Amino acid sequence: MSELSDATDEPVRDVVIVGSGVAGLSAAVYAARADLDPLVLEGPEPGGQLTLTTDVENYLGFPEGVDGMELIQRGKDQAQAFGAEFSHDTVENATLSERPFTLDLAAGDRLHARALIVATGASARWVGADGEDELMGYGLSTCATCDGAFHRGDDVLVIGGGDSAMEEALFLSKFADSITVVHRRDELRASDIMAERARENPDISFRWNTELVEIRGSQETGVTGATLVSHPQGYPTDRWQDGDPDVAEETVDAGGIFYGVGHVPNTDFLADTPVPLAESGHLETLTGMTTETAVEGVFGAGDVMDPDYRQAITSAGTGSMAALDAEAWLDALDAERTEDPLSAG
Ligand code: NAP
Repeated sequence: MSELSDATDEPVRDVVIVGSGVAGLSAAVYAARADLDPLVLEGPEPGGQLTLTTDVENYLGFPEGVDGMELIQRGKDQAQAFGAEFSHDTVENATLSERPFTLDLAAGDRLHARALIVATGASARWVGADGEDELMGYGLSTCATCDGAFHRGDDVLVIGGGDSAMEEALFLSKFADSITVVHRRDELRASDIMAERARENPDISFRWNTELVEIRGSQETGVTGATLVSHPQGYPTDRWQDGDPDVAEETVDAGGIFYGVGHVPNTDFLADTPVPLAESGHLETLTGMTTETAVEGVFGAGDVMDPDYRQAITSAGTGSMAALDAEAWLDALDAERTEDPLSAG
């Protein structure tokens, strides 16, 4: 429901949800069913990380797996069926020190909200290798499902040792001639099932204790190769920068390079707000089973507040929790207002 607040004569939404991945969609379903008429700001990557994945095998209720894009589209349809509104917009600046909150959008509009659910997720991390700014999108990619088909017959490198890197490598094995997983330690972080699949794939090999320091090529030629460093005890880049003589440097040919080195939470727009952020950039929620933050009326859901679990199913769970927490908080505020009509909020 929109209403006019005491603090502004512009319309104020009850709930605005920032982000449209699985957490934002789940929050939208719950908030819409609670008649809070949520507005979902879809952000620069509508649908979030699941839209970049193929089969989701561990989301409850899909024994055959489900396509990530399909899961997201069905979630959006479900939220819209209950009345959630979607806008293809991004928050550029948030004023959260006074209520109602004010959001300045990239398109130039300004919104007010009584409650805000931050579900902005996380974006692919970059390694920091020389040449990556120039070559991202020219043979260097963070998304095998998006760009893998351009690498038919290529020898490609996948950087990282977690589930994302294994997933990238496995997907690329449909197209590339060979895939070399380059990992900075000698032990994978990936789950056993993903690690085993990658190890059993004859097209995938591993370079242990090795890091990428330079990407070679140009925007005209695309990626042509890479400079790798390695050290028997791992983490070679730091040792290389410290001048360790046991670091070996090598150039290799490669027709493509894929990053699978994790994600960083999308919290830049919160930097100048009173919402506490962890050193990792994650939005901090209060301790205990809650999505509340230290700023009353601001709630967090999904990967943006979760450095540990980061699963589609847990994001859906915290999304629903955020909507329930927002609903309870708005109810309490309304009850307070009924008792004291002069209180703002
Ligand atoms: P992650 O588990 O944090 O793994 C990131 C990997 O990249 C680690 O091996 C890390 O090395 C390496 N790394 C990080 N920064 C690096 C750098 N600057 N240079 C070189 N290597 C670097 O991230 P993720 O793989 O994206 O997975 C995130 C979550 O999503 C996990 O919970 C995962 O289970 C889940 N996920 C699941 C699936 C699936 O089940 N199909 C697919 C994708 C993701 P260290 O090991 O040395 O730290």
